[in-house]
Amino acid sequence: MRKKIVAGNWKMNKTAAEAKALAAEVAALVKAEVPADVQVIMAPPALYLDAVQAATAGVANLAASAQNCHEKASGAYTGEISAAMLASAGISYVIIGHSERRQYFAESNAQLAAKVDAALANGLTPLFCCGESLETREGADYLAFVAQQLTESLFHLSADDFAKVVIAYEPIWAIGTGLTASSDQAQEMHAYLRGHLAKQYGQAAADACSILYGGSCNAKNAQELFACADVDGGLIGGASLIAADFITIAKSF
Ligand code: PEP
Repeated sequence: MRKKIVAGNWKMNKTAAEAKALAAEVAALVKAEVPADVQVIMAPPALYLDAVQAATAGVANLAASAQNCHEKASGAYTGEISAAMLASAGISYVIIGHSERRQYFAESNAQLAAKVDAALANGLTPLFCCGESLETREGADYLAFVAQQLTESLFHLSADDFAKVVIAYEPIWAIGTGLTASSDQAQEMHAYLRGHLAKQYGQAAADACSILYGGSCNAKNAQELFACADVDGGLIGGASLIAADFITIAKSF
C-alpha cells in the first residue's frame, strides 16, 4: 500500500514567532486527530527548520522538510544550503523542483537531477515536483511534457533510489490561483505518470510510489481529490498556513 502524505509548503511566509506557533498548533492537532497512517510534513523557510523540527518531537507521523537544497555538498555558494547540511541538522525531507524554483531561479531538469542525487546521497527523501504551465495544458502534449520532467530528473536513478522518491504533480496554472485541477484532470495525470514510471521501473515500483497533488488544494476540495485512485495526498501551499485547514486536509483520505 502506498504511503499517504500531506505536506505543507509555507514558502516565504511567517515571522519566527508565527512559525513556532503554527508548528506547535499543527503538532498538537496531528497528534490528536490525524490517523497514524498519514504522514504529515511541514516545510517552513530554512531559517525556522530547527524550531519547526523541535515541534514535531513525539509526533510519530509529523516531520519537517526543507523547501530546497543545493546540489553541491559545500563551498562558495553564498545563500545556499546543501543536502548534507540538512541531513546533519536531522532533516529528512526536501522539496525539489517546485515550479517557483524552476520559474524564478531557472532550475533545469538536469540541475534538479543533481539535487535529487544530493538528497538521496544524504538520506533525505526528495519531494520531487513536476507540472505544466497553462500554455502547455492547452496544447496537445501536456501529459508527455510532465512525463519528460520525470524522465530527465529521475530516470537515471537505480530502482533502490527511485523507491525513496515522492512525486508531487503540481499544475502551475493551479498553484496559488484558486484554480484547482478537477479530480478527473488530477487522476488522468497521476495515472499517466504512474504508467510512465512503470515503463522504467516496473509496475510494482510504480504502484509503490506516492504521487501527491498540489495546486489550490484546500479543506473543501481535498476529499474529492484524495478519493482519486492515483492521488496519494497533497502538497499544500496557502492552506498549510492555517493549522485547522491543513489538518482538515490531512484528515481527508
Ligand atoms: C504549492 O506551492 O506547492 C501549492 C500547491 O500552492 P497552493 O496550494 O497555494 O496552490
